[in-house]
Amino acid sequence: MKCAQGGNFPKGELQSFGNIELSPSAGVLNYGQGLFEGLKAYRKEDGTILLFRPEENALRMRLGAERMCMPSPTVKQFVEAVKATVLANRRWVPPPGKGSLYIRPLLMGSGAVLGLAPAPEYTFLIYVSPVGNYFKEGVAPINLIVEHELHRATPGGTGGVKTIGNYAAVLKAQSAATAKGYSDVLYLDCVHKKYLEEVSLCNIFVVKDNVISTPAIKGTILPGITRKSIIDVARSEGFQVEERQVAVDELLDADEVFCTGTAVVVSPVGSITYLGKKVSYGEGGFGVVSGKLYSVLTRLQMGLSEDKMDWTVELDDV
Ligand code: PMP
Repeated sequence: MKCAQGGNFPKGELQSFGNIELSPSAGVLNYGQGLFEGLKAYRKEDGTILLFRPEENALRMRLGAERMCMPSPTVKQFVEAVKATVLANRRWVPPPGKGSLYIRPLLMGSGAVLGLAPAPEYTFLIYVSPVGNYFKEGVAPINLIVEHELHRATPGGTGGVKTIGNYAAVLKAQSAATAKGYSDVLYLDCVHKKYLEEVSLCNIFVVKDNVISTPAIKGTILPGITRKSIIDVARSEGFQVEERQVAVDELLDADEVFCTGTAVVVSPVGSITYLGKKVSYGEGGFGVVSGKLYSVLTRLQMGLSEDKMDWTVELDDV
């Protein structure tokens, strides 16, 4: 099945951050026809700004656009637009070690529709904000609760693309969890209700006897760019990594659990509560495996180690 694609994305322009005008019957407002991306820019000691794998975000947006019946910018248009936006906001990229500039590309059906249909016009925009650590815990371990009634994605649904509706689906469980003091929610598959899916904003990894396992991507889990990068980093560091169904029971005797995502980078999990039972991991910091992977990935992202993977994109301006 394919929706009409094509569309024309003329060269965009830079504008100050502010409200935008939308028709009350815009597709995005009425039918949730919207997608977003998230990536970060880091500043190196010499002032250079680095992006991490922006073409991966472009490709993911293109896949999502096909699912959401929208045309999307080409990879080149996307990356050029990200670069231009970051350079125009270069003064907001924090100094080395003080955080990063979060970049939020957004693609939406902005044309007016009354009956259910893809919108006739689209808007692609990018805004940015300096950020520090996502969780209030910083890089200290986070505490998750397993949700066994509400689901973020169903087979055949939109869980595998970064559409705005996926985040509406998690608001209830996520706000209930944070109100109870948990950092975030871990979702299970909605068919068997026993296999791990992911957390509201990040992917999950379980370590047992030095083998790293993570739920396989099968349409209900977002294919995280950090997930993919961590799998490659882990394999290049000599770890065995398995992408497979990971049963919730495996959490009981895991050695380490950690999450990955652009916002959370690599975050160790300190405890997981499932049906009222709490399982704890580690002694208040990174585990041996997650600590190693965090260090290799963040050094690369921040330009502190040689980028043998060719993952960083240096912006020409200092
Ligand atoms: N899962 C979900 C639901 C997310 O929103 C994110 C953040 N984009 C991730 C996983 C991690 O993806 P990435 O590593 O590309 O940020």
